[in-house]
Amino acid sequence: MTRKFTDKTLLVATHNQGKLEEIAALLAPFDVSVVGAAEMNLAEPDETEATFAGNARIKAHAAARATGLPALADDSGIEIEALGNAPGVYTADWAETPSGRDFVMAMTRTHNELEAVNAPYPRKARFCCTLVLAWPDGHDEVFPGVMPGQVVWPMRGNQGHGYDPIFVPDGYDVTFGEMDRWEKNKISHRADAFKKLVAGCFD
Ligand code: IMP
Repeated sequence: MTRKFTDKTLLVATHNQGKLEEIAALLAPFDVSVVGAAEMNLAEPDETEATFAGNARIKAHAAARATGLPALADDSGIEIEALGNAPGVYTADWAETPSGRDFVMAMTRTHNELEAVNAPYPRKARFCCTLVLAWPDGHDEVFPGVMPGQVVWPMRGNQGHGYDPIFVPDGYDVTFGEMDRWEKNKISHRADAFKKLVAGCFD
């Protein structure tokens, strides 16, 4: 049995203001007040696990323990079939430089690695997002979301973020980077995980 969320306040264990606003909007129908990690002065724990669920659990449990509030965390990235599902949990790391994140560099590396293994077309990939809701007593619920598609080259579109310009979701011929933000938010891996969270814990 999935545990229901019955509290008044939910801590969202992210320092990213955009993610916080997106989550607050999605939970607006449920009479929940949402607070962010920055407001609570929470530290960002190291993400040491090899899976999205493992890293989301680290973030959610650390936040729930530190505050005594139920806490929601997510971890996401892209898995590319011909690269043995890399970069996976290292998706953001591929963009890391001494002066901040550079996603053009990360997408170029992705393309170069696909060329190096002579990957066949379509170059199948999937965006993944796992949401974890953890309670201060140590209980948690885990909701994995996916959006299957393929990696293309060259980069197309400037609407999104991260790896959006090289990802064409199944059933479309535009990249996430060319897609209207609201349309993407309806079909994305994050939307998929959210639907499962709401159905499991908020309905
Ligand atoms: P994290 O979940 O904040 O640890 O970061 C995951 C990384 O995956 C981000 O830095 C993005 O580059 C990438 N990522 C996750 N979701 C998306 C998406 O919807 N579009 C493009 N990139 C994404």
